[in-house]
Amino acid sequence: MFINLKEDLKTNFLKYTVVDTMSDEKKAEFQHPSSLNQLDLINMLKADLEKLNIEDVSVGKEGVLVAHIPATVEGAPCIGLMAHVDTADDVEGNGVKPQVIEKYDGKDIVLGNSSRIIKKDDNPELENYINSTIFTSDGNTLLGADDKAGVSEIMTIAKILVENKDIKHGEIEIIFTCDEETGCGMDAFPYERIHCDYCYTIDGGTRYEIESECFNASKVSIDFKGVSYHLGAAKGKMVNALTMATTLVNSLPQAESPEATDNRDGYYCPLELNATNDEAHLVVYLRDFELSEIERRENVLKSLCSMVEQIYPGGKTEINFKRQYYNMKDISKKNPKVLDSIFEAGRRLEQPLFESPIRGGTDGARMANEKGIPCPNIYTGGHNYHSYYEWCALNAMEDAVKLILEIIKIGAEK
Ligand SMILES: [Zn+2]
Repeated sequence: MFINLKEDLKTNFLKYTVVDTMSDEKKAEFQHPSSLNQLDLINMLKADLEKLNIEDVSVGKEGVLVAHIPATVEGAPCIGLMAHVDTADDVEGNGVKPQVIEKYDGKDIVLGNSSRIIKKDDNPELENYINSTIFTSDGNTLLGADDKAGVSEIMTIAKILVENKDIKHGEIEIIFTCDEETGCGMDAFPYERIHCDYCYTIDGGTRYEIESECFNASKVSIDFKGVSYHLGAAKGKMVNALTMATTLVNSLPQAESPEATDNRDGYYCPLELNATNDEAHLVVYLRDFELSEIERRENVLKSLCSMVEQIYPGGKTEINFKRQYYNMKDISKKNPKVLDSIFEAGRRLEQPLFESPIRGGTDGARMANEKGIPCPNIYTGGHNYHSYYEWCALNAMEDAVKLILEIIKIGAEK
């Protein structure tokens, strides 16, 4: 018999959201994990998995937990389930006091004693959860459903698999990571400790939303070298590097900027400019779902550099490209079962799944790119991430657990 899914999810969620796990953007590049309190939750999860009699649980010094639930059928692929323990630092992420609204009445939600209100008009999704349970913060912090909803769902799945040995499945590899929010979580990722054939991050939002596609990303650095001269006698001699850099920035097509694009359109985004009249350093981010469009924009930037050199004779430019990550869809295509089993599970459970492209990257995308392990992202049931107005629906968490269990079963079918 299955456990009471909702009760188990609620217990997990309330237990894990009160643990402080805010990551530290400033330390993330050279310290793994960036904040030591993330280890408090990692160690708690280790103990909770061991209580379920899962023997193979390890935590590395970088803070990543890897656990294995043995297969109940031979020859089935090993499936990874991944979630992150850290919370964002866009608003206060520590000291979370979760509020439980047992029977949501369909009205605006006042957050604790704070003056903050989750307005139903801004959150049309709330209507789907009238009379059911919703979690919020008390308005003084974020809630941390990103990604403790995912963590809780994986823990509930672990319990179900351990207590129901008649469920046919391959080996399950549970991965809890730190520092996803800082973008540095995969820098120290212990690939040597994992061996799943494919993986799912449980780190999405809205119920039924599946994310299997993300941007391709290129970081472009351009150095401008001017010719400095005494300003009083500069005529015909000085070349101003700052002017060169702003000329290039002003030549970028505004219609292809983040603020003018959505859905499947890519963009140029000038992100950083340090400049004097002697030299300037400019960083431009390129993003697109199609790699050919990234290449096209890289070539445009090369042309703009030579244009700037022609307009300002004597000035020099140097351009460098760094490919940051790639659209994971191309890796998923090599193993169609990864995505097919999500949508087959959705059909069997009559969940109206829909796909949306991620206008960014994910840890799953890095795993796909760095190790060729396909890793789409599944919804958790949370909304308004990284804000005081974050909320999460228990019914959606339950649906996520059912969907993932079905995916696991399909994984073991011939
Ligand atoms: Zn997340």
